[in-house]
Amino acid sequence: MSGIDDLPPLSRVIASHGLTARKSLGQNFLLDLNLTAKIARQAGDLSNMDVLEIGPGPGGLTRGLLAEGARRVLAIEKDSRCLPALAEIAAAYPGRLSVIEGDALRIDPLEHLTPPIAIAANLPYNVGTELLVRWLTPKEWPPFWQSLTLMFQREVAERIVALPGSKAYGRLALLAQWRANARIVLSLPPEAFTPAPKVSSAVVHLTALPEPRFPADAKVLETVVAAAFNQRRKMLRAALKGQHPDIESILQSAGIAPTERAEQVSLEAFCALARALAAARQ
Ligand code: SAM
Repeated sequence: MSGIDDLPPLSRVIASHGLTARKSLGQNFLLDLNLTAKIARQAGDLSNMDVLEIGPGPGGLTRGLLAEGARRVLAIEKDSRCLPALAEIAAAYPGRLSVIEGDALRIDPLEHLTPPIAIAANLPYNVGTELLVRWLTPKEWPPFWQSLTLMFQREVAERIVALPGSKAYGRLALLAQWRANARIVLSLPPEAFTPAPKVSSAVVHLTALPEPRFPADAKVLETVVAAAFNQRRKMLRAALKGQHPDIESILQSAGIAPTERAEQVSLEAFCALARALAAARQ
């Protein structure tokens, strides 16, 4: 027994199923079930929610989510070696855990989920960032999810919550903060994982706003932010030259000095710029 449920401790699960961690799949497992339950609690009350978990691995966070009362968990895992361990968890929580084997970047889980929906994951860095960007940039808003509780490398977590003027401020901060409230809720040292990665990690909790914080066309905003931060050392009149022949006066009409750099520009000002650009293009 493991403390949060009647299943064996994760170290025994890993040994009995031969789940040696694979670097190619970004496998750094959380084996402390008190910690995974604590992470699950950061997602808030899940008792009336379906939870989409990406990358359950041997199931530490999955067990935390179920023990903390998630109505249902749908887990997508790429590594087929983990499926028997996950089947044991499903048997211990009848009707509450479904597992899909496959690549989360290629699977549309929506048909298997009933709203309200929360997402929770401890994912490899590259997959996690790509999924986060997808979850933040759907055509329609509000999105299919109400909250995201995601483990990232500390440096990526800081980029999500960063404010203007800081080195971490950029595309991720603007995408996240335009349509969601985002905060770091937990910090974890490398030793919390097996094997221990080189860097610290942090859990970020995002809740979807009912509508974006400031009006702007999503595509125009995404493009202008990407262009501005692609050349973040340059003045905006140079970095955004390709956006419109008269970018200087468009920047001015949005209240931004053409000599400013992207790092200094607030979310509100970027939204004003996206509106001014859209109007000038019509
Ligand atoms: N959630 C477990 C935990 O906290 O101990 C495992 C975390 S481990 C950092 C990342 C997990 O994501 C691994 O189980 C790995 O096999 C899985 N994974 C990696 N890439 C994936 C992908 N594209 N789709 C689904 N799962 C993936």
